[in-house]
Amino acid sequence: MEWRESGELRWLEAELPGALASFSTRLGGLSSGSYESLNIGVLTDDDTETVLSNRRLLDEALGIEPGAVLIGRQVHGAELLVHDGPQEPAPWVAPTPDPPEVDAHATAVPGLAPLVFVADCLPIALSGPGGVAMLHGGWRGLAAGIVGRGVEATGATAAAIGPGIGSCCFEVGEEVLAAFAPLGPGLAEGRMLDLKEAARRLLERAGVTAVEDAGICTRCNQDLLFSHRGGGPMTGRQAGIVRMVG
Ligand SMILES: [Zn+2]
Repeated sequence: MEWRESGELRWLEAELPGALASFSTRLGGLSSGSYESLNIGVLTDDDTETVLSNRRLLDEALGIEPGAVLIGRQVHGAELLVHDGPQEPAPWVAPTPDPPEVDAHATAVPGLAPLVFVADCLPIALSGPGGVAMLHGGWRGLAAGIVGRGVEATGATAAAIGPGIGSCCFEVGEEVLAAFAPLGPGLAEGRMLDLKEAARRLLERAGVTAVEDAGICTRCNQDLLFSHRGGGPMTGRQAGIVRMVG
């Protein structure tokens, strides 16, 4: 994974077979206060017009057509939506009242760009012969099988895990530990869960052998990234985005 920049924007980029995954940071946007500065989530108390401007800045930096970005209202589930074309109207460009309630998007159409919003949860990009997918990997979605859905939809052989909360900062309750117990020992020290290792094991079980991890904890790096646990409810969102490349 490599750092990229354009103006004030900085993001991480991972090359996957036939695809490119990007993970944005909080740097280079227009929002202020606890949303400083590249907040791309409208379901916050941040000013919507400013968020839409931030989204345009991100589109420009990544060279993505705004209408090609595929998003939903994330509900910590494991549903995946397969897209055969752009969303019309595009909720990324102008918020719509009823975006699809899903936490994962897949497509085999070049140019389309599945995107998830994160601030501690793991953005997981997949690529395979059946296309690309972007997953919102919180513990609930991971425990509910979102990785398997993504791999099934794409035939993924490779994955990239962007910045998310590390085992250094992810203290969880017994019910969360129990949800991951089937993945075997070594996933937690006491109540500190290694969610990235859980994701890696789920990917490997699903047949994805090439797994790249940014290795960056959001909560430990709040100058660079939004963290829900670190910043509380008044926190912005960053993006995980993937698209097929020719
Ligand atoms: Zn940490």
